[in-house]
Amino acid sequence: IDINIIPTGEQTTNFIGKVILLRNITPFKELDMAKTNFIGTVSHEFKTPISSIEMSVRLLKNERIGKLNEEQKELIIGIEEDTSRLLKITGELLNMTQVESGSIQINQSLDEIRPMLEYAVHANKSAAEQKQILINIDIQDGISSVIMDSEKTAWVLTNLLSNAIRYSHENSSIKIDVHRKNDKILFSISDTGQGIQTEYLDKIFERYFRIPGTKKDGTGLGLSISKEFIEAQGGEIWVESDFGAGSTFYFTLNLPRENYL
Ligand code: ADP
Repeated sequence: IDINIIPTGEQTTNFIGKVILLRNITPFKELDMAKTNFIGTVSHEFKTPISSIEMSVRLLKNERIGKLNEEQKELIIGIEEDTSRLLKITGELLNMTQVESGSIQINQSLDEIRPMLEYAVHANKSAAEQKQILINIDIQDGISSVIMDSEKTAWVLTNLLSNAIRYSHENSSIKIDVHRKNDKILFSISDTGQGIQTEYLDKIFERYFRIPGTKKDGTGLGLSISKEFIEAQGGEIWVESDFGAGSTFYFTLNLPRENYL
């Protein structure tokens, strides 16, 4: 129920009372939920065919089916880029519907860090190669596992890495660093790209927010979903940036007990 209290008359001189308007917003909420469910169903249905197109395109690109001439290669690379963009958007929409309907399920367990990082790097391999961007991974000695939902954390890392590539210049490098900080494990993804003005450092984690003038395609959903996924695991996520010189995105996860390390 939406309640509006409207004072009537001039409050200091001839105050005569208040009018309370009650509006039942249940039908709007139901409509909103129906829309969210619809977006969820459609994105779910899109995911399988797009994934299979992506697999076929990869086979063609790697010349597993037969040799390609230059023109065919260029076309296939274009299809591959568009397909992974579609997959990214459908993934974001699907996750957004989970967040909106409050149905995020976190399955935490003690899981290895390196395979998850390698998965995220592999998922962004083509995009990085396209811009000749080098990705370096540095994991502090003695850290191998962390308590996490590995699927959701892999999604966050893939997303942060994809942003780092998209908002970086060609021939640059990106560093993924994992080390221990107090009672947490700190992940960071640093790029030497366009950077972010101070006034937007918090805003970019809001749903649908994109910095005005950002040209690359995007939904403005990735960082808000990443924030939900990390906070649901008891961690924190933030960014530090030097406008014009690059950004570092950080997130923390819980350290396993001593005897697990
Ligand atoms: P999207 O990238 O789809 O627009 P995100 O939620 O991932 O959505 O990011 C929100 C905005 O934050 C982006 O539109 C961009 O303006 C800015 N941003 C994100 N990552 C970076 C980065 N590594 N460098 C510079 N700007 C970034």
